[in-house]
Order: sequence, then structure tokens, then C-alpha cells
Amino acid sequence: MKPNISVTKVETSKVDALDFNNIPLGTTFTDHMFICDYENGEWVNPRVIPMGLIPTHPAAMALHYGQAIFEGMKAYKDTEGTPMLFRPEENAKRLNKSADRMGMPNIPEDLFVEGLKELVGLEHNWIPPTDGSALYLRPFMYADEPFIGMRAATHYKFIIMASPAGPFFSKRIRLWAEKQFIRAAQGGTGEAKAAGNYAAAIRPTELAKAKGYDQVLWLDAAEHKYIQEVGTMNIFFKINGEFITPELDGSVLHGITRASVIEMLRAMNFTVIERKITIDEIKTASENGTLEEAFGTGTAVGIAYIQEIGLEGETINVSDESPVGLEVNDTLNAIKTGKLDDQFNWMTKVE
Ligand code: PMP
Repeated sequence: MKPNISVTKVETSKVDALDFNNIPLGTTFTDHMFICDYENGEWVNPRVIPMGLIPTHPAAMALHYGQAIFEGMKAYKDTEGTPMLFRPEENAKRLNKSADRMGMPNIPEDLFVEGLKELVGLEHNWIPPTDGSALYLRPFMYADEPFIGMRAATHYKFIIMASPAGPFFSKRIRLWAEKQFIRAAQGGTGEAKAAGNYAAAIRPTELAKAKGYDQVLWLDAAEHKYIQEVGTMNIFFKINGEFITPELDGSVLHGITRASVIEMLRAMNFTVIERKITIDEIKTASENGTLEEAFGTGTAVGIAYIQEIGLEGETINVSDESPVGLEVNDTLNAIKTGKLDDQFNWMTKVE
């Protein structure tokens, strides 16, 4: 059943004031937001309203106990100018998986997808027309019940905001393999897109940047030798003609780009193996010349090509070129913008 979403529009849109050739990253928001409340065990009052501040009690539980989860996705336009979403039902599923881990309520998938469609339909003028740009969408849920004490909250808000994002120029990145700090442990919250995971990554990322690296390569919590992911991306290595990506062992985020890239590589007749992979194995492959390419995958950048990996006292050279990564990136972008046939059935039109 289609949820009944009420819409209150702004009187004048701010879109005309935006220079689409020069979009400030992460600070521009569209005119409206989608919002919905969780009360008495159900989601009520789904509505689109003007973007604005939300009154919050200082005891709102998300601020203290961290029941806060989010998603990240993008809307594009096809060649006819119709807005399109990339695999939105996968984001709905992942949000609910995060909610399960954090003791939060699930949101019905159709409410999630219809909320997105309503917002994106209304804000279609905000989808940047320039190649490589998109309208970034940020669905999130948090506990807004004012209560001091440790238990699951009984009141939550689910909100979707939209923010236009300029093109991302993929330079080759250098990674720092982190052996002191960890992102996620077995049984922890690494598989959830929980706000606290990102808070815990801020300091190690700052330290890696101070050493001259672009992103942290996260290793396992127990032995610091198995590779998990990179920054806010999943990671792929091409060794001896085959692709290897860390298996989803409970500490790795189930990236939607990751799943899509696996499908694309297999359709290109590559072998893709999901298994444990150690940093030593990458070092050996680099030394014996079998490490052909490596890249990160994620919504924000698509594919990020990896140049080298720094470790305490040494550097692993990866590659100066990523021909397969480039091809995958181009194909993915062409599917997302309707320039290539949607052969995997990934796109949802907003009509
Ligand atoms: N890992 C982490 C920790 C992330 O935050 C993200 C971004 N959501 C990813 C991987 C990539 O996921 P996706 O391809 O769904 O954007």
C-alpha cells in the first residue's frame, strides 16, 4: 500500500541561487526534507516539509547513548531528464539491518522508498546536470525520546535530506594500514551503518592524513593482519587475473557498490573471490609482480584507485593504472545516468 505522505512546500525555491559548476561539498541542502515519527510502536505522520531546524530535547537518547544510524545514496537524471535512484531498496534493507543491531525499529521498505521518491520528485531541479554530479541523499534514523537511562528508546525520527554534490575527480589514493586503532571487531557494530562507527574513525583518519595518506586501511581487531575496508569504502584487489575482496564476516559494511561491482566483474567473466585476505599477502603479491590493481568502492566516489599502502616502516606499491577499475567505474556511471542499458535492473525511476 502506498503511504499517504503530506507535502508542505516552500514559497520560493533556493535552487536558482546555486552555482551548479561550483557546489560547496556537504553544506548545501535542498528546499525540503522528508520526516516521519515513531510513536507507540508505529511510524506515523510521514510528511515532506521545508528544510529547517528540528527542536530536540537535550535528553534525546541519540545524543547520549548513540542510537543513530544512516544511509548514503544518490539520485541521478537519465538522458531524458527523469530522476533515477540506484538500488534504493538495498539501502532500505541495510538501514533495517543497522536498526536491528542497534535495538531500533525497522522502517517499512515501501515507506523508505516512497519517501525518497516524493522528496526527489519535488527536488528534481536540484539534481546537478553536470556529468559526474548527483543529488546526495541522506536517510537517517535516531532516538529522540528524552530519557536518562540505558534501554532502547520508544520514540524515533526518520528523516531524508538531500544535498547536491559536484563531480568527484578520482585521483589515485595512498592508504595507511592502521595497526593501533581498529574500526570494527567481531560481534561489534561494524556491519551497521551506525553513527558511532564514524566517530571512532575520525581520530585515526586525522593521524593518517597527518602522515601524508588519504585514507585508513582498516585491519581486523584481533591480529591486525586481515584487511577489512578502506575509509568509507569496501576494497578489491586484482591478483594474477582474479579479484579478491574481504568476505562479509560481520565486521565489514555490506556496501551496495561492492555488491554491484561483484556482479559487474562476474558479468565481465572475471573470477571474484570473497575471502579473508591479509596485508602480508598483498605485500607478497606486490613484490612478485602479481598485484595488478586495487580499488575502493562506495557511493560517494564510485571507484577510488589505490596507488600504494603505507605500513610502519615500509610501503607496498600497488599500481599506477587500474584498467578494469576504470572500465567498471565508467560502466557504473553510464548505468546510473541512463546512458547504458540497465542490464542488472538496478535503477528506479521517479516519475
Ligand atoms: N564501508 C563503509 C564504512 C561505508 O561507510 C561505506 C559507505 N556507505 C561503504 C563501505 C560503501 O558502501 P556503499 O557502496 O553502499 O556506499
